[in-house]
Amino acid sequence: MILLDGKKVSNDIKNEIAEQVKKMKANGEKVPHLAAIIVGNDGASLTYVASKVKACERVGFESTMVRLSNTTSQVELLDKIKELNENPDIDGFIIQLPLPKQIDTQKVLLAVNPDKDVDGFHPMNFGKMALDMSTFIPATPFGILELLDRYGVDTQGKHTVVIGRSHIVGRPMSILMGRKGFPGNSTVTLTHSHTKNITQITSQADIIISALGVPNFLKAEMVKDDAVIIDVGITRVPDDTTEKGYRITGDVDFENVSKKASYITPVPGGVGPMTIAMLLKNTLLARERQM
Ligand code: NAP
Repeated sequence: MILLDGKKVSNDIKNEIAEQVKKMKANGEKVPHLAAIIVGNDGASLTYVASKVKACERVGFESTMVRLSNTTSQVELLDKIKELNENPDIDGFIIQLPLPKQIDTQKVLLAVNPDKDVDGFHPMNFGKMALDMSTFIPATPFGILELLDRYGVDTQGKHTVVIGRSHIVGRPMSILMGRKGFPGNSTVTLTHSHTKNITQITSQADIIISALGVPNFLKAEMVKDDAVIIDVGITRVPDDTTEKGYRITGDVDFENVSKKASYITPVPGGVGPMTIAMLLKNTLLARERQM
């Protein structure tokens, strides 16, 4: 079994980006600038945004965090987005999800200038991705592709089963694994909560990408020998033995599944750190495109 070490690979990517930023600075060019809007006080969201800001510092990007209160109206948020769209100093920005109930997430994502949409959530960018055109690929699926690529995991002609069909992970992942090229050329099955006999499907898979958010959902008996396992799940499970009172758990019963797998991502330290690295990569791409 080979561990797909997202912590290590994401560090390599950050080092590569930092080198590029150094060269930009030496040439007197503007460095990439990422902004993040966060609405409300959700603990997990605040942690994610803080780690994105920290990652920007680490590679030499500029960063701006825009904090808005939980009672922010849709109009106020749209005004802020307009401001960032029009600010030439901002190369890319993200809106941390989920948003409070009074806000229509789809309307908000549609308002982002697609050239600054480094999360790749705008329908124009999603459409371009589906059509194999150059675009911003959503950071989590992009990170998974990069992990498979850097470890030379063969995807061609393989049966990939994706669990979960969210717009940010499962759905784009199923499109990307089925596209022409590498990593890709897989035969893809997309499963969700209405899928019947899921064990029958997963046990035929060469590659399983699990993105449902149910701790320890994928058990050893659902997996065939030598399968490649990508665990996207991140769930906070209460745990009094830890300082924070919780621990992070993936979708996969790692202890038992890892005994059968050829490659597997750990949680934490697998897909999570890759997501942040690929957000930085998209921001660098946005800056390069503006030039
Ligand atoms: P989501 O929007 O809640 O979607 C979950 C998907 O799983 C849905 O499509 C749902 O089906 C499906 N599902 C739920 N129960 C199922 C079951 N018993 N069998 C089969 N499918 C089932 O979640 P998400 O945003 O994609 O996130 C999924 C997980 O990944 C979460 O733990 C999240 O925290 C994590 N995540 C991690 C990263 C990272 O950087 N590592 C990034 C994003 C998300 P229906 O469509 O039928 O409801």
